[in-house]
Amino acid sequence: MRIVLVGPPGAGKGTQATRLAEKLRIPHISTGDLFRANISQQTELGKLAKSYMDAGNLVPDEVTIAMAKDRMQQPDAENGFLLDGFPRNVSQAEALDELLQGESMKLDAVLDLEVPEDEVVKRIAGRRICRNDSSHVFHVTYKPAAKEGVCDVCGGELYQRDDDSEDTVRKRLEVYHTQTEPIIDYYKTQGLVTTIPALGSVDEVTTRALEALKGGSDGA
Ligand SMILES: [Zn+2]
Repeated sequence: MRIVLVGPPGAGKGTQATRLAEKLRIPHISTGDLFRANISQQTELGKLAKSYMDAGNLVPDEVTIAMAKDRMQQPDAENGFLLDGFPRNVSQAEALDELLQGESMKLDAVLDLEVPEDEVVKRIAGRRICRNDSSHVFHVTYKPAAKEGVCDVCGGELYQRDDDSEDTVRKRLEVYHTQTEPIIDYYKTQGLVTTIPALGSVDEVTTRALEALKGGSDGA
């Protein structure tokens, strides 16, 4: 099964991608991992990507697409893959279609994780991280520390990352609306999109996504 997972920041896309890939026994291909792997292995593409990143520029689509192509041709992706973070705009989606057509393959499904905007802001802007250990993560509403501002695990000071501020979240959402959301319409014309409400527990969302994929393969 070849799947694209789409959703705004804060939708739990990474978590769902990992779980779905495991259940479906296909590799989870995320752009973040692609970049890290290519850069650490010092591939030509990795060096190229790094030169853009070091200069503070965005990595051009061609480079991302070439990395994705390499990855999709590895043996473990023979029976499919789940793409997370790619494509992130219509031109990447078009390039992906071309790439798949070249291999006589096509996508089976596009899952669109849907979360109300205010919920996204609440989820992200409420995060508090421990200064001693960034794996000690709390949330003012969903996982409050016993004592406000103090880490339950080690007593460290809790703070909000700049990336998690409401302003930054709203800006990231705007980028998502203008750049990434148009790919949902693009895939709708191909009849591939299923919208998954991404509210409720992580398990509930995974179950919904798996049900949707099952339905799709029955032609329902
Ligand atoms: Zn801590």
